[in-house]
Amino acid sequence: MPIDATLPYDDDNIFAKILRGEIPSKKVYEDDHAYAFHDINPQAPHHILVIPKGRYVSWDDFSVKASDTEIAGFVRAVGKVARDAGFVEPGYRLLANTGPDSHQEVPHLHVHIFAGKPLGPMLT
Ligand code: 5GP
Repeated sequence: MPIDATLPYDDDNIFAKILRGEIPSKKVYEDDHAYAFHDINPQAPHHILVIPKGRYVSWDDFSVKASDTEIAGFVRAVGKVARDAGFVEPGYRLLANTGPDSHQEVPHLHVHIFAGKPLGPMLT
């Protein structure tokens, strides 16, 4: 179910539980600002999710409330995950669903990284 991204942060959302280690995930990378793990239902040969460690519901929430340090740390982490995975040369796609029309399902900001095949034109 798409979520209402204007709601307050829910500490019981599934990615908060992953961050706290309460449910398992296949970790790809972690630093002070970000945690990256494999999507449980991959939509491409490589499908990684990168989430900030802070409590942000969506990209919109993050862009308004996060500090410059958090934003820079998170953006650099997304780039590093893709680079270290070898995605830069063949190419990759980033996606951050935000709000109900986008079909955002988990109310903790996450950036999808898709790679591993020609991804075709943008979704409509
Ligand atoms: P959204 O639609 O919110 O942009 O994407 C949510 C993503 O989270 C989906 O691609 C879904 O497969 C993934 N996901 C949902 N629950 C879990 C989980 O428990 N573990 C992992 N690794 N991914 C999950």
